[in-house]
Amino acid sequence: MNLLRLISFVLFLASFSYADNQTQVFPTSSGPVRITPLNHASTLIEAGGKIIYLDPAKPVDFTGKPKADLILITDIHGDHMDPDSIKAISKAGTEILAPPAVVQTVTTGKTIANGETKTWQDWTIDAIPAYNLQRGPAPGKLFHDKGRGNGYVLTYGGKRFYFSGDTEGVPEMRALKNIDVAFVCMNLPYTMPPDEAAEAVKAFHPKIVIPYHYRGSDLSVFQKGLAGTGIEVRLLDWYPT
Ligand code: ZN
Repeated sequence: MNLLRLISFVLFLASFSYADNQTQVFPTSSGPVRITPLNHASTLIEAGGKIIYLDPAKPVDFTGKPKADLILITDIHGDHMDPDSIKAISKAGTEILAPPAVVQTVTTGKTIANGETKTWQDWTIDAIPAYNLQRGPAPGKLFHDKGRGNGYVLTYGGKRFYFSGDTEGVPEMRALKNIDVAFVCMNLPYTMPPDEAAEAVKAFHPKIVIPYHYRGSDLSVFQKGLAGTGIEVRLLDWYPT
């Protein structure tokens, strides 16, 4: 096989599935869901031949990555909503679902607000409030005001995947039920420290929890906080060099 053929064959394979050794594959009744950490909050989700990105943003280089069928955005800050990245992965027919405050800025896309449920293809998408209870840039101010940002519970083939967005351990997170895989943020000063994240995760008891959006956090504290609970803590590298 000459080099050109080999390259085109690899590109052919890449058009079906982007994967690296961080990719997690979760079986469901509708087939596998593949989830790949890209950076910080940016995540690639593949199922049923469709490509979903959650919070595509810099510094991820989207060159050569598959175009999006759906883009889900959680909040207005640059690590979640990045017009350049959205442009880089968009094609004719790419849909965007995002909180109203994001849609006002990005100008395309459909809104999904706290508490709303929408269906997209074979997915059910529940928007879970994501907000600060106490942390903010100044007294009386919060980094994330209640009502603006979404976490998401994404259901596919009977499996429920939760992405927290930027939040503290709010009651709406603690009240979640039947979560198979939870992606939970932890970083100060913006969201919550790992011990608080562990406490919140204990309350809704997912089968598996994967810390994401954790820059600067000591994940061993999170692991210790969940030791003996039966919740599997799975660590992935969200900050590749
Ligand atoms: Zn963030």
